[in-house]
Amino acid sequence: MNNMSFIVLNRVILSNGVSGGTAQIAGVHTAVIKNNEDGTFNIEDLRKKIRKNPDFHEPISSLIIVENTHNLCGGKVLPLEWLEKVHNVAQEHKLPVHMDGARMMNAAVYLDVPPSRIVKDVDSVCFCLSKGLGCPVGAILAGSSEFIAKARRVRKAIGGGWRQAGIIAAAGIVALDKMIDRLKEDHIHAYQIAKGIAALNSPYFKVVLESVQTNIIIMYMDSRINPKYVQMRLATVYPTDPVKVSVRCSSRDDWIRFVTFWEVSDKMCILQKRILT
Ligand SMILES: *Cc1c(COP(=O)(O)O)cnc(C)c1O
Repeated sequence: MNNMSFIVLNRVILSNGVSGGTAQIAGVHTAVIKNNEDGTFNIEDLRKKIRKNPDFHEPISSLIIVENTHNLCGGKVLPLEWLEKVHNVAQEHKLPVHMDGARMMNAAVYLDVPPSRIVKDVDSVCFCLSKGLGCPVGAILAGSSEFIAKARRVRKAIGGGWRQAGIIAAAGIVALDKMIDRLKEDHIHAYQIAKGIAALNSPYFKVVLESVQTNIIIMYMDSRINPKYVQMRLATVYPTDPVKVSVRCSSRDDWIRFVTFWEVSDKMCILQKRILT
């Protein structure tokens, strides 16, 4: 990514399909590729999905999007060599690549490379100032000056323009200056919690320890257990509980997801270990 410009967003506008936003707002159709467990997808599958001069029944491909780190794969960091392969395929077809890098700073910290290295093979990136970086709101879209000029127009048109945004942007500056390096602590905490869960050898829930790379832990539940119930129970503190701490997580079909961030301290991770053991 050369000649970079930035736009500060109050929300991700088009970078993913949340609420079908790609269709509703951009008027584009998405072709999704099933991901592998490490957050990548097969390059051959990508080649098959690209439609450059298709029959007129089919839409024409105009963008490739990758997510880094990969949220639902448990915060997995996309390998740099793989990103290069995606870039090469994109070049062959003259397609731009966008990174949904909501947690790309976690990827940079995990690989111990500068953020610029993570985005070397993409044309644009969007990352959150909230989440791990701790701001109340905010995200940054980065790309070529031309791309950002267009994005500014879109932002304005869909009501995303801000007045007096400085007060919020100030938190963004703190995030960029002070909150990136400390993401390492979140990674350590996530691994500690995962180790605590794994050490239980429970027949009801498990984590794949090697898969915990950054600040996300996915705990898989046996089909006899309702993840919604576990989620509720972890968040609730009863007077009879030996350790009084409320643990919040999100749940899906057969797993729950824990995410660590700056407010989760060393001490809290030890407490969580005690609850679980
Ligand atoms: C959170 C998230 C977004 C959206 O970020 P906002 O801060 O709501 O704009 C986009 N992509 C991924 C992968 C996310 O986790």
